[in-house]
Amino acid sequence: MKFLFVGAGFSCAVIARKFAEAGHQVHVIESRDHVAGNCHTERDTDTDILVHTYGPHIFHTDDQEVWDYINQWDDFKPYINRVKTTSQGQVFSLPVNLHTINQMFNKTFNPQQAKEFVLSLSDKSIEEPLNFEEQALKLLGKELYQAFFEGYTRKQWGCSPTKLPASILKRLPIRFNYDDNYFNHRFQGMPSNGYTHIVEQILNHQNIQVKLNQAFDSSMEAQYEHIFYSGPIDNYFDNEFGRLNYRTLDFHKETHHGDYQGCAVMNYGNEDIPYTRITEHKHFSPWEQHEKTVIYKEYSRACEANDIPYYPIRFSGGEEINKLQQYIDLAKHQDKVTFIGRLGTFRYLDMDNTIREALDCANESLTLLQNNQPIPAFFVKPIN
Ligand code: UDP
Repeated sequence: MKFLFVGAGFSCAVIARKFAEAGHQVHVIESRDHVAGNCHTERDTDTDILVHTYGPHIFHTDDQEVWDYINQWDDFKPYINRVKTTSQGQVFSLPVNLHTINQMFNKTFNPQQAKEFVLSLSDKSIEEPLNFEEQALKLLGKELYQAFFEGYTRKQWGCSPTKLPASILKRLPIRFNYDDNYFNHRFQGMPSNGYTHIVEQILNHQNIQVKLNQAFDSSMEAQYEHIFYSGPIDNYFDNEFGRLNYRTLDFHKETHHGDYQGCAVMNYGNEDIPYTRITEHKHFSPWEQHEKTVIYKEYSRACEANDIPYYPIRFSGGEEINKLQQYIDLAKHQDKVTFIGRLGTFRYLDMDNTIREALDCANESLTLLQNNQPIPAFFVKPIN
């Protein structure tokens, strides 16, 4: 049977490969001139540094199967994401840990003392945090919130942190020891040849044809048994209920000699600096040697019609969720399309979860096909 996959990011690539291995004919179309979506990496022509074109991507997961899966396609080097942040004229360690707390309050607390101290700062009037700000005030208190989260979050999301779900802050751990690993996951690493190389490998199969610079058109549907669509769900329906809102990013690239900031990612916690962070790409590949260095200053703003969507804006109780619900209801009436991935389901998805969902979607779809049952519009709940 013949299947169409719209978009060549991890979601489609992983499912397409499974379908190809099961003997199906697979066409993958991609509107950009490269595969791997926003995980795209490429060698900078001037410096030969491997650059994360759409911002930093560090692979981390707790899922053994996903880790084994990704490791098939490239040589992963051990890599620990250690992020720093500049706030109020000083450099601090992230995520908030014992070093951050001691430096911030000019103390020499041990873990227990720090825990008690932060508890004394926390806002105890908040029982069940309803939004990002309440979650931060309850966990950390006002000083740490204002230094590291309030300004950054306003720049990143373009709104008051009271409008954002508490779940966004829950992405970051808070530690009362000196562990400054940004992630809590068991597995973490960086592919030596980059994510685009990985996606190219996944798509390299005799039953897969990839067409770059090719936008989706609904007239294509008739030629296929089924379509897996990883583009924005509102675009699929010609924005019938209005566009879903995203944040997009602008990267201002600079090339320098030597080492610009001494680490891969430096965040900027205050609003007087207009960018959210600076990424210095060569630090993602510390096993390589480069005389020059490439940095990206990262600016976040509202995503307009022709911009690249990055972060779906899902304000709890907001208009966006109603709009999304309308698209979901419409999607459920399509019998030939499955919506997948970050844009197809309008969720904040890390690479490992994207791959997990794609593996599950592929296995379940192939079983349904074998049993002559229809493939559903969604395998995950876009609204939870
Ligand atoms: N955040 C913050 N200050 C920081 C880093 C993160 O306020 O220095 C907040 C911000 O709202 C951000 C969220 O925490 O959107 C999640 O951060 P993460 O580093 O996971 O964001 P990503 O790397 O996905 O952009």
